[in-house]
Amino acid sequence: MGVSYVGVDVGGTKVLAVRVSATGAVEATATRPMPGVAAGPAAVEDAVVLAARDVYGDLAPAGLGVSAAGLVDATGERFLFGAHLPWRDAPVRQAIADRTGLPVVLDNDANCAAYAELVAGAVRGVRSALLITIGTGIGGAVVIDGRVIRGAHGLAGEFGHMQAVPDGLACECGLRGCWEQYCSGRALERVTRVALGRHLDGPEVTALALAGDQVALHSFASIGTWLGVGSAALVSAFDPEVVVVGGGVSAVGDLLLGPARRALAGALQGTAYRAVPELVPARMGPEAGAVGAALLARDGRS
Ligand SMILES: [Zn+2]
Repeated sequence: MGVSYVGVDVGGTKVLAVRVSATGAVEATATRPMPGVAAGPAAVEDAVVLAARDVYGDLAPAGLGVSAAGLVDATGERFLFGAHLPWRDAPVRQAIADRTGLPVVLDNDANCAAYAELVAGAVRGVRSALLITIGTGIGGAVVIDGRVIRGAHGLAGEFGHMQAVPDGLACECGLRGCWEQYCSGRALERVTRVALGRHLDGPEVTALALAGDQVALHSFASIGTWLGVGSAALVSAFDPEVVVVGGGVSAVGDLLLGPARRALAGALQGTAYRAVPELVPARMGPEAGAVGAALLARDGRS
């Protein structure tokens, strides 16, 4: 058994761990439920440690990466804030290192996913790209000159909480009208609930859409249109070669990306005279954040 690295992705609904080889091949995966914001910060640390041990067992991995849904400070030491996690300005990197005895790196989940796509996925060899991860909320990352851009405080790419609608729907982050209120798994459930008069969860809406159900298709068209409109604003700002869309909600493929492409082309200036970037699915799948965290543990945060 050669050298291996472990990555743990901490999201709003689950904690997903992977073990990868030195070349980045996934050797094992494990999932634990996310204890929930009310369970408190220590319970989430427990889930991270348990999920990691599920994949490394008696092996001694060379490093552990933690991918977390929210704001991670520029040094990679502290998790500052996330609407779906209970950590608040918490020294997560050191805490997980102390509990596992492993070298640990910590980064934002979308940055981890972007790193995985850069090393082995949809943006391998691409110089400039935007990555939009649609799960419970929206994660984002910016790749310029072949590198993930972090910003002055490590907080670049928080696309989900750009204001899309002034005085719009209340967001878990405390603001109103955030983009992710209109384009996310939560938004998918809300739009479907309004149309049907009863609650279906994201996977149920996805299954219905894939079976051709008109209400479910309309729900995906709604959040897809919001995806395209928001992407147009980001394309205007960054002029990327490609926009990569990942996360659980993107599993329906063109049922989401088709409406998004139309809305993107319709909300961008001068489309007769410019290249409209391709909107493409992520390649790394739902494990992207965890795999990227493991690769960051291997390569170091840059
Ligand atoms: Zn928000």
